[in-house]
Parts: sequence; C-alpha cells; structure tokens
Amino acid sequence: MLSQEDRSFIARMPKAELHVHLEGSVRPATLLELGKQHGVVYPFTDAAGALEWFRFRDFPHFIDIYLGVMQSLLTSEDHERVVYEIGEDAARQNIRYMEITFSPASPLNPRSSALPDVVLRGIRAGARRVWQDFGVQMAFILDPVRTRTEEEVYWFARWCADNLGDGLIGFGLGGTEVDNPPQRYQRAFDWVRAAGARVSVHAGETVGPESVRAALAVGSERIGHGVRAVEDPELVRELADRGVVLEVSPTSNICLGVYPSYAEHPFRDLHEAGVTVTVNSDDPPMFNTTLTNEYVVLAEQFGFSRAELCEISLRAVDAAFLPDEQRRALRAEFVAAFQQLNGVEPEGSGGA
Ligand SMILES: [Zn+2]
Repeated sequence: MLSQEDRSFIARMPKAELHVHLEGSVRPATLLELGKQHGVVYPFTDAAGALEWFRFRDFPHFIDIYLGVMQSLLTSEDHERVVYEIGEDAARQNIRYMEITFSPASPLNPRSSALPDVVLRGIRAGARRVWQDFGVQMAFILDPVRTRTEEEVYWFARWCADNLGDGLIGFGLGGTEVDNPPQRYQRAFDWVRAAGARVSVHAGETVGPESVRAALAVGSERIGHGVRAVEDPELVRELADRGVVLEVSPTSNICLGVYPSYAEHPFRDLHEAGVTVTVNSDDPPMFNTTLTNEYVVLAEQFGFSRAELCEISLRAVDAAFLPDEQRRALRAEFVAAFQQLNGVEPEGSGGA
C-alpha cells in the first residue's frame, strides 16, 4: 500500500494526458441532466443510479454506455459543457495539458445531429473557458470510428485538414480494431498528414503486433494503447529504437480484458525494454479511474518510484503534439514543479 505522502505527491505532480475520449469522460450526473433536456430515457433516474450504470461491467455494457452518451451529446452547448467539466476535473488533478479525442457523427451517415462543425464549435468554446478559468491547455484529435466506410473516414480527413488549428491538432482512428486495419484508410491518412495534422492511431489493444505495425505504416506517430506490441520482441526493439510513444491505459486494459490483471499487464516490461510508455485514463468515469489514479496504479502495482513517475509525466509532455516552443515551456514548468515537490529550489529562483 502506498503511504499517504506518496499519494499526496502523486496528486500534486503536474500531469499531461495524451489519450482520453471526450465521449468517455462525461460526468454521469451531467449525462442525467442532458438526457432530461433531450428527452432520452436512461435506465437510471438519479445521480447515484447514473454513477452505478456508468461503471464498467463487461464489453457489451461498455458499448451500451457509449451509445447512451452519444444520444445526449447533440448540440455545441452540450459539448462545450462536457469539455468545461473535463477541464474542471483535470485542474483538480493538476493536469496542465490534455489531448482529447472526439468522434462526431458522420455527415455521410448522420445518425445524430452532433456533426463535426457542431462539435468543433462547442469544444473550442469549452477549451477557451477551461484555459481562462483553470489554466489547463487542451488540444483535440479527431478519431473517426474504424467501422466507418473508407469514404466516410476520408471525408473526416478532409474536414480535419480544412479545420486544423485553434485547438484541432490531430487525426486518428478509434473503435473496433478486429477486421478494421488502418491501411484501409491510407488515403485519409495521406491527406491529413500532408495538411499538417499529427497522427495517433489506436492499435495493439484487441489485435496483436501486426496492428501496431500497420498503424506505423500509415504514419501514426504515437500509438493509442500499443501494449500488445510486447508479443513481438522485434517490434518492441523497433519501438524503442525509433522512440515511438505508446499511450497506455492500464485500468482500461484490465476492464476490457486485454489483460486479466495488473500483474500480467506489460507496462513495466515495455518500460524496461526501452519503449517510451506514457500513462493515460482513456474513459475515466467508465473505468472508475482518473489520471491521478493511473499514476497510483503505476506506483502501487508496478512499483515505480517517485522519480520514475516524474519521468513518465515528462514523457507525456515531450510527446505532446505541441509546437516545439510551447512544448519546451511546458517542460520547464513541469521540471520546476517537480523540483519544488522534491524540496529542491528551482534554478534561478534566487533561493539560498
Ligand atoms: Zn482510446
């Protein structure tokens, strides 16, 4: 068990999060309210019931929650509110920077009014208020769901290219990996990359090393999850040599059955092999976790020291899809905060 001092150290550490889904981060109580506004009937009627329903049970239930959330995330205002609340929750955990993935409805197959323009308006407005009120910087990555047709994903790529900037920084792929390899969407990746979008694809979660290789082949700079790369020592070496960053979410992997327990999770193996692993929360309320809690897991289940946790936090800063100058400034801010946490006078502070 971690000491109270260790827990408080982890809580106060500055953090950056590279892999968290907008739709998977809605507060259960907010979903209840949005549902009432939009006339959506859920299998719960109060905040406690919503919280209970949100808790991960099994994969089919997880999909039910996701679809349930999508039913109530319809307008720009809904998205603005959710982003604002994500920022508020982040500030409480000392998260200074976040890259949030979002998956709007497809205009070619619109099953919801949450079309890309509607969503982008809302998340940009939310991010501005989060910056003003909490000083948390947010950026967004568009993740079409990979069960969509090649034409739909290509449409998203073109839209993303046309709307890059003002918080929209990247493009990826979410959803079911099985039978949906990224190379099917090569045209989309070529298009967004040429326009300057940064790319991170989900891979190596429900499909093995071949999925990670395919993601790298379409130009994925980081890998969402990527943990199953561990099954192929040659790939592990390649990831380490190339410095490819994995966005790992241990609790999500346990909940979704990628690994039966933390003891069998390869976070430390990948780390020891020299792979740049970062830690992320993925869908925090659904997996009953937070980014802070994932750091607690690293300490408690994987035996990482305070110094190592700081190093892992800095990795996320170094891997952020930010312009060099901003990334360096953020890094300096983190290093100064770690020094202060460790009782070291930051350089240049004039301390004795
Ligand atoms: Zn994810």
